Amino acid sequence: MQRALSVSRVTGNRGTFPDWYQAVVREADMAEVSPTRGAMIIKPWGYGVWERIQQTLDRRIRETGHDNCYFPLFIPLGFFAKEAEHVEGFAKEMAVVTHHRLKLIDGKLQPDPEAKLEEPLIVRPTSETIIGDAFSRWIRSHRDLPLLVNQWANVVRWEMRTRLFLRTSEFLWQEGHTAHADAEDARAETLKILEMYREFAETVLAMPVIAGEKPENERFPGADNTFSIEAMMQDGKALQAGTSHYLGTSFAQAQNIRFQDDAGQLSYCHTTSWGVSTRLIGGVIMTHGDDDGLRLPPAIAPRQIVIVPMLRDKPEDAQVLEYGQALVKALQERFALGEPIRALLDTKAQRSADKRWNWVRRGAPIIVELGPRDAAGGQVTFMRRDRLRDGDKVQSQAMTREAFLEAAPALLAEIQQALYDEAKARLDGNIRSDIVTFDELAEYFGAPVDEDEGGAFKGWVRAAWSRPTGAELDAVEERLKALKLTLRNAPMDQPQTCGTCLFTGKPGVEEILIGRAY
Ligand code: AMP
Repeated sequence: MQRALSVSRVTGNRGTFPDWYQAVVREADMAEVSPTRGAMIIKPWGYGVWERIQQTLDRRIRETGHDNCYFPLFIPLGFFAKEAEHVEGFAKEMAVVTHHRLKLIDGKLQPDPEAKLEEPLIVRPTSETIIGDAFSRWIRSHRDLPLLVNQWANVVRWEMRTRLFLRTSEFLWQEGHTAHADAEDARAETLKILEMYREFAETVLAMPVIAGEKPENERFPGADNTFSIEAMMQDGKALQAGTSHYLGTSFAQAQNIRFQDDAGQLSYCHTTSWGVSTRLIGGVIMTHGDDDGLRLPPAIAPRQIVIVPMLRDKPEDAQVLEYGQALVKALQERFALGEPIRALLDTKAQRSADKRWNWVRRGAPIIVELGPRDAAGGQVTFMRRDRLRDGDKVQSQAMTREAFLEAAPALLAEIQQALYDEAKARLDGNIRSDIVTFDELAEYFGAPVDEDEGGAFKGWVRAAWSRPTGAELDAVEERLKALKLTLRNAPMDQPQTCGTCLFTGKPGVEEILIGRAY
């Protein structure tokens, strides 16, 4: 098997990292651009990964006491006007519905002027406003608290620069919304979710992350505090993979979400919101893909073990197919990573070499090739996608059928762990903490390059800072912007003491991560 992607993941004359990313999305059959500006078509293999993400995360959301519900796609414009910062933050990216009917005017289908909506509707960019409005009716007394809901939905943000999965104008996500009696309880919820996201990213997506608090300039519009998990991609850039917001009482005040305490006193609720999106799939691709295509962690692979029968239009084909079917059945009765194994016999009418290559590019964790000799001898020949090649040579192993059935659960768990370990070593090995002045920072990262031209792998810098606010923070942001750098987050685990601020020279109050980002 000589074939590989035409673009290498290693930036060089064979293409840039963004070229490689696009090639993997295409070759792994995950998604494609759509005729609708900025929105994507998620193909069955890509959507299968999203369904795995939904199932595994939904279980965690329920286990932490949240119930699912559904709110309207359209939100009356006036709802946004109630929270000034929120509307200001999202105004630039809102899709607005103004009419409810079309009409042929001068031979052209146009919005009917007589069907203009009295109040325009916004296609939700996020649902704090409409869910908060319901909360104001659902919550009466402290006995109704905490109120913990989640919805799986699509949202629209009119993004100007879009990229499949990473940033699209319409994306799929879950958004959690909760209301609490006091700040302490709401903050605890915000952090509980942050930890849920960290654990989910690391154990299910095999994507190591750093959980921390976003600086003031990167907060969600209207939030008191925003926390994120940040993952390092194979080009060294950061991907904000999920966020959890403590909203204080500002949304509750805007929407009159109040409760009566034991003494009959009315108080505003403290609310939170949090979300992860289809962006996670982009993160998985940029964390685990290689020059042969995608490598999927078994926990989210729609098919974990794919069996490719080597058929030759000969009588023994029937025996190979029968042997393959029985193997699928036996695998499906076994458990790996806590669930029945997802196995498939690929019987499509296609050359077996092409089939095998398809599953390599799509990243199926284990690919079995069955020929007449395997069927006759009760053997299984397979390759592990995480360690496909040794140099140019493809590594395959053979076992007896019984030994393979016995080994399969452990093999899948091992692949999951191996992908995590590889990514974890990259993350841990590429955060520099010896850079202490802005000049050193500028020298280390060098002149900014156009995103599409790639650039050398740099990773992140972790440095002390004095957590400036207002104009002082704006100035920091400007200086970083000139280098195409951003503040990522201040990690949750902080040292007892820290040095002087890299930006202001004042005593540092915490350490913060700095890097280029998606
Ligand atoms: P937010 O409501 O802004 O905190 O967004 C929640 C999460 O959705 C973020 O942490 C991102 O991972 C993701 N996200 C935000 N904008 C987009 C987008 N345009 N496309 C895909 N995912 C997005």
